[in-house]
Amino acid sequence: MKKLYLVIPCYNEEEVINETAKQLVSKLKCLMDKDKIDQESKIVFVDDGSKDRTWEMICELNNDNECIRGIKLSRNKGHQNALLAGLLTVKEEADMVISLDADLQDDINAIDEMVDKYHEGCDIVYGVRSQRDKDSLFKKYTAQGFYKFIKMLGVEIVYNHADYRLMSSRALDALEEHKEVNLFLRGIIPLIGFKTDVVTYERSERFAGESKYPLKKMLAFALEGITSFSIKPIRIITAIGSLIFTISLVFLCYFLVSHFRGYTVKGWTSTIVSVWALGGFQLLAIGMIGEYIGKMYLETKARPKFFVDKYLK
Ligand code: UDP
Ligand code: MG
Repeated sequence: MKKLYLVIPCYNEEEVINETAKQLVSKLKCLMDKDKIDQESKIVFVDDGSKDRTWEMICELNNDNECIRGIKLSRNKGHQNALLAGLLTVKEEADMVISLDADLQDDINAIDEMVDKYHEGCDIVYGVRSQRDKDSLFKKYTAQGFYKFIKMLGVEIVYNHADYRLMSSRALDALEEHKEVNLFLRGIIPLIGFKTDVVTYERSERFAGESKYPLKKMLAFALEGITSFSIKPIRIITAIGSLIFTISLVFLCYFLVSHFRGYTVKGWTSTIVSVWALGGFQLLAIGMIGEYIGKMYLETKARPKFFVDKYLK
């Protein structure tokens, strides 16, 4: 039988954690009764340096429940890092891990389907929201805009998928080989490959407490997503530079003709030519330098280049 671990990052979640634990324990029991998962399956709460009673509550839950565990991080490291810490800590013991938020905005009934897909041979199963009408209009539009924009920049990302997903232990091994410091899990996981599938669910409202993702954190997260996956912004500068430089060459002919026909004031031609040509050339040069910095940036990440899927002997 396969062991399932649920990993839940928590930051100042004292209002929700008991209810979350209660619901998850009954979900886990239900899956055990149906013989879909091993009796040794666990729920792991990762305390991301909370300032309230979250950690104390995790300790109590751990005392009262056989199947609840806790991980405490040294300080607040942010959602993505807390999630990764949880995933990599339990990796060796679990056969599959599902990550989800502490506020149970993600429908936990999708867990059944995720486990079924795992038994059908999937290594990664993405939880995808069917709609967003429970989100505020602002969150809805900013999030949609972000997905579209990042896709345009050529980053492969699963639309409307947050961090609710199942990963097998070998998918986690593959994830661990990504050594980058700037972490954007949603962008990295599609790079792993293996057999993947999608489970859709309806996202509900937070049942207590408030969002730990204020606008400032959301913007930082979006920028992280863009800059850690794309060097297109640099390419755009190069393109503009080449365009201006080309235009300057065309203008040069025009200026020279004007000059020799005597239509111009003395000194104008040389001034205007240097403004255009130099401006364009500088932008082009910055873009070229940026191109190399972009390469170095990608190289220093030292991303793994492939993962073996099957090995026939
Ligand atoms: N979270 C975390 N560290 C942080 C911020 C958030 O571990 O610095 C956790 C939080 O406890 C929750 C999850 O990340 O379990 C998602 O946060 P939230 O529900 O506030 O985000 P939203 O659903 O509003 O995007
Ligand atoms: Mg939430």
